[in-house]
Amino acid sequence: MRIGIYPGSFDPVTLGHLDIIKRSAKLVDKLIIGVLNNSKKVPVFTNQERKEMIETVAADIPNVEVDYFTGLLVDFAKEKQADVIFRGLRAVSDFEYELQIAQLNRTLRPELDTVFLAASVEHAYLSSSLVREIAQYRGDISSLVPEELIPIVERKYQEILSKT
Ligand code: ADP
Repeated sequence: MRIGIYPGSFDPVTLGHLDIIKRSAKLVDKLIIGVLNNSKKVPVFTNQERKEMIETVAADIPNVEVDYFTGLLVDFAKEKQADVIFRGLRAVSDFEYELQIAQLNRTLRPELDTVFLAASVEHAYLSSSLVREIAQYRGDISSLVPEELIPIVERKYQEILSKT
């Protein structure tokens, strides 16, 4: 059984992420989405919110599961007995960083390979930070996140804005 991991912050999950999830899930028997719990970067959406949003949008893909991880991706991959890491590449600017991380991870665990999927053209400009920026100013996020998540993201920003 081939197991893949797609790691990221998913703060929040976007249509670009969902595209990579669907395409990666076809390439392995099981795809584990690793929601990064990074102590350096405090996310807008809690771990549980990020996990639940992914579970909602990936509910109809049978071989996908979602889990959190802290620490090194190679350790998480080992724990999950994963063979491959998936990453999406949007532009050359992603490439430099992603190549470095992929090479580092191969040094740490040579049997674990990284597969890069080219972002679909229609989502190439899309990032979670862009979604957060638009949502913060009450802009239209309908072309950026899966439809089911629009009210969740909007509600979160209403909450945040009501506190400031
Ligand atoms: P972001 O850069 O949006 O904060 P993450 O850290 O959650 O995203 O990224 C997880 C992975 O998803 C990375 O490999 C990233 O390159 C990829 N990714 C992010 N947005 C897109 C997109 N629009 N299309 C394809 N891949 C993407």
